[in-house]
Amino acid sequence: MLFDTHAHILDEQFDNDRQEVIDRINEQMGLIVNVGCNLEDCHRTVALAEQEKKIYAAVGLHPNDAYLYTDTLWEEICELARRPKVVGIGETGLDYYWDDSTPEQQKELFIKHIDLAKALKKPLVIHDREAHRDTLTILKEQHAEKVGGIFHAFSGSVEMAKIVLDMNFYIALGGPVTFKNARKTVEVAAMVPLDRLLIETDCPYMTPVPFRGKRNEPVLVRHTAEKIAEIRGISYEEVLQATWENAKRAYAISE
Ligand SMILES: [Zn+2]
Repeated sequence: MLFDTHAHILDEQFDNDRQEVIDRINEQMGLIVNVGCNLEDCHRTVALAEQEKKIYAAVGLHPNDAYLYTDTLWEEICELARRPKVVGIGETGLDYYWDDSTPEQQKELFIKHIDLAKALKKPLVIHDREAHRDTLTILKEQHAEKVGGIFHAFSGSVEMAKIVLDMNFYIALGGPVTFKNARKTVEVAAMVPLDRLLIETDCPYMTPVPFRGKRNEPVLVRHTAEKIAEIRGISYEEVLQATWENAKRAYAISE
């Protein structure tokens, strides 16, 4: 019943042993959503999802790649987004940590993803790095609450979490909640209603303790679930059950 709601197993860091990583998913996990970040990645993600029963897909153009935008590229992503195994639109949002794409390019692209999510009635997968205020402003202006979705790798405060929850978003936490300096994220992990919380890896990055520093992969999401159970003072099984049900509801997966 482990559900990794945000993985990138097509990353080149898995090129040497991807099949083994998929075998471990099939043996040890319920489901995962693999997220495509650029056009090629999206094509490969959809192909993988259509071949692997336990893998679903999200497609979009990552905010850091907004500078690559062309109308033709976007039309292809919109086509892929219609496929039944695609259950999310993104990751999309704003990233002010990297500056390959300007804030203006990122904002325009973000709005296109919101429009697409609404048109297809599929949830948004939000990436927000050092851009909390602008991300919330755009979600509000574009009435993203009509479609909702998942705030991936949530890094905001408890106050921000409340706003995001009010806008019909689920909050996904990953490896950082296990880090020593995770005070803010630990507070969020404690306050999010249990029926709105998700777990994720964002692999190959953000590896949870005790594997921090090594490559991350979907099966390691259990360490994040264990940490959340400890923070909330509930059992690991309870976290598993809740995050499993939540993820299926968030991505509208019926199985
Ligand atoms: Zn990601």
